[in-house]
Amino acid sequence: MPQGGTTLTNSQLTPGVVPGRLPAEAYRDNFADHEPPLDAHEARVAADRCYFCHDAPCITACPTSIDIPLFIRQIATGTPEAAARTILTQNILGGMCARVCPTETLCEEACVREAAEGKPVEIGRLQRFATDRLMAKGVHPFTRAPATGKRVAVVGAGPAGLACAHRLAMKGHDVAVFDARPKAGGLNEYGIAAYKATDGFAAAEVEWLLKIGGITIHPGKALGRDMTLADLRAAHDAVFLGMGLAGVNALRAPGEDRDNVRPAVEFIAELRQAADLSSLPVGRDVVVIGGGMTAVDAAVQSKLLGAETVTIVYRRGQEKMSASGHEQDHATAAGVRIIHNAAPVAVHGNGAVREVEFAYTQDGPVGLELLPETFRLKADQVFKAIGQTLEGAPGDLALSGGKIAVTGPGRTSVAGIWAGGDCASGGEDLTVTAVAEGRDAAEDIHAFLIG
Ligand SMILES: Cc1cc2nc3c(=O)[nH]c(=O)nc-3n(C[C@H](O)[C@H](O)[C@H](O)COP(=O)(O)OP(=O)(O)OC[C@H]3O[C@@H](n4cnc5c(N)ncnc54)[C@H](O)[C@@H]3O)c2cc1C
Ligand code: SF4
Repeated sequence: MPQGGTTLTNSQLTPGVVPGRLPAEAYRDNFADHEPPLDAHEARVAADRCYFCHDAPCITACPTSIDIPLFIRQIATGTPEAAARTILTQNILGGMCARVCPTETLCEEACVREAAEGKPVEIGRLQRFATDRLMAKGVHPFTRAPATGKRVAVVGAGPAGLACAHRLAMKGHDVAVFDARPKAGGLNEYGIAAYKATDGFAAAEVEWLLKIGGITIHPGKALGRDMTLADLRAAHDAVFLGMGLAGVNALRAPGEDRDNVRPAVEFIAELRQAADLSSLPVGRDVVVIGGGMTAVDAAVQSKLLGAETVTIVYRRGQEKMSASGHEQDHATAAGVRIIHNAAPVAVHGNGAVREVEFAYTQDGPVGLELLPETFRLKADQVFKAIGQTLEGAPGDLALSGGKIAVTGPGRTSVAGIWAGGDCASGGEDLTVTAVAEGRDAAEDIHAFLIG
């Protein structure tokens, strides 16, 4: 069917799960940078809105405690590379955080101009302006301390593991990073929505971070499969676990093993790795089950790939969704419908899914109850986004709430082993929190190593 100058074999109305629903140029536009970078003039104007508050609330609201007024002043005075150094001193993945932080619930929510005018200083975009400037020059602003001869193993090359490895390398230790996946970056590479980290930014940032030296990445090496915690402890002076949450929760509804019912994170990882998005199959009617960032990202990106209808179904009320109001608005603006207070009770179909049956729910003092009234949604693809779980955690570590129990700066129940990021207890599951926890554990490991 000719459309927009391109010959298509499929359209938004083609039944089933098929690739190429849109013309080539639509994929390019749909997955372009969703918030284009500021140019130098725009950055100056944005920086001039900062009041450079004393005791600035935005610093406290940032999990990595970046000195925001200082870096904004450095931009305002025409020294963006100094600004980048200020940011990166606290947050070595400041480039990615500038793109993915939910700033509306972090630094920008705390900005006094948000309280006064409902329009905060654009901290995230200014952070991106500064870090992009420095990274474009290919320079790495930090150097290593003299070698200490100490060796640390880091499991997981996501934001927590990378931040930990970088801080340890700066202190002069040698760091070996083991990751189960073929590429480093964790969810920066395999999870974050494609339009937030365009043009291979995740991989470029890892390459830039490794310029510190002293870090060796071992891809395709999984703890529990290729080595044990005892092996790592025997060969290293300390171990940091930043393995994220590799498992996914089941729906526990009959029929969930039907074809085209799959974890949302699997679909998103495939999308992030696709060289050509037009080759990625997507359903005509997509149903996403869940209420968090993963559900929103799976739904929005299904729509951007050309699905005709996309519906998120969440079992509780809107106020309980872990996706922020901003993210929910983003989903509805992209054409995604959100249904609240409904839970899946059966997945119907013949081989592949055809419909999902939901029961209305009531969330009261006794907890969540299924009501007798049900409804069905047409679906040729279903994404499960009801939470990730810790998988493959070594058995001798204490757990808390299904995660590795930690105290203070990431100390686990076993001496010599630290943990941080999504796999560890406490803290929100955000990129910036993982960076803060990896960095803080590294400082504690360093103190331990130098006695
Ligand atoms: C779809 C999605 C979208 C998101 N969007 C945002 C967003 O926009 N903004 C935001 O702030 N946060 C977002 N998050 C959350 C954020 O990505 C995570 O909080 C963050 O990546 C956690 O970092 P981490 O280093 O703890 O874990 P991860 O990034 O998950 O990295 C863990 C690494 O450990 C490796 N690993 C796992 N098991 C093993 C093993 N046994 N042996 C060796 N290696 C192992 C994995 O391969 C992975 O590379 C999103 C999450 C998802 C799932
Ligand atoms: S790292 Fe995130 S929360 Fe902290 S200042 Fe930057 S954008 Fe805001």
